[in-house]
Amino acid sequence: MSRQADIAAQSGATIIDGRALARDMREVLRQRAAGLQERFGIKPGLAVILVGKDPASGVYVANKIRACDQVGIHSRTIRLETTVSTHELLELIRALNVDTSIHGILVQLPLPGHIDMPAVLDAIDVNKDVDGFHLYNIGGLVTGGTVFSPCTPFGVLKLLEYAKIPIEGQNVVVVGASNIVGKPTALMLMARDATVSICHAKTRDLAQFTILADILVVAAGVPHLIVPQMVKRGAVVIDVGINRMPDGSIMGDVEFDGVAQKASFITPVPGGVGPMTVTMLLSNTVDGAEAFCNAADSTSISL
Ligand code: NAP
Repeated sequence: MSRQADIAAQSGATIIDGRALARDMREVLRQRAAGLQERFGIKPGLAVILVGKDPASGVYVANKIRACDQVGIHSRTIRLETTVSTHELLELIRALNVDTSIHGILVQLPLPGHIDMPAVLDAIDVNKDVDGFHLYNIGGLVTGGTVFSPCTPFGVLKLLEYAKIPIEGQNVVVVGASNIVGKPTALMLMARDATVSICHAKTRDLAQFTILADILVVAAGVPHLIVPQMVKRGAVVIDVGINRMPDGSIMGDVEFDGVAQKASFITPVPGGVGPMTVTMLLSNTVDGAEAFCNAADSTSISL
């Protein structure tokens, strides 16, 4: 680690402020969206499909819609009964794929068990797959050439970039191996030439891995999984976990106070990765709208 990071480690970690970065990025996105309106008369559009009445999903969707409003993205929420069939969902997605006012399509997960989730996600046009869950976009994380990166891992990368943390050649340990957070985060960091280990619930002696990490990304959904003894002095710690405690408070996967005494940089929960996830969704949607306008412009199709 750098001398600056060593000093920070002795006196306590520098907090990477996800709210501040999200605020700055959203202002730039607002300007880009306004630019599309001015140049092409087009407002970026996001369609959100919400199946059923899961309260947590309802809150996540409401947050996304509010954030869209703030930056000038037009959003359309399509609420469907839990009994909807895979066929009906596929028909809806096909219609949205050809709707020129929509540049991003998001299916809020989880879906009810009877729905063929991979078929639904893979039906989304890759050029509108702003969540980055289509097989093409996932495969592109391995081979290069993704259209859109998944939002939470993309947010983690942006936070590291914002804090000017070097990635090339660093030992990275990702705790959590889910398809939406752990695995794509690991692949995106590998693509930036980090040496990456992925740990999961069956990893034996988690600490023997975490203690070697220059950059430790934790996305397990287990409060206080990472305690100071598991962290190398001067490490950069990114806490993706969001755990709602019995008293209603929100807590990450890292024991923040203790680990902050050893880390050089650390993200808080709340206020770290969380605001970045929604911001990267907005960013992908504006990217999609810009790509649509530029393609139409170059082929002189009237918008
Ligand atoms: P998930 O699908 O439940 O996956 C959790 C992963 O952690 C799995 O790979 C699991 O291992 C691993 N794991 C569980 N317990 C572990 C342990 N004791 N030691 C090591 N690994 C362990 O969860 P997710 O969707 O990836 O989300 C992870 C956390 O991030 C949750 O708290 C979630 O709320 C949060 N999250 C935050 C954001 C954000 O915007 N900040 C976005 C998405 C998710 P196995 O594979 O072996 O089961």
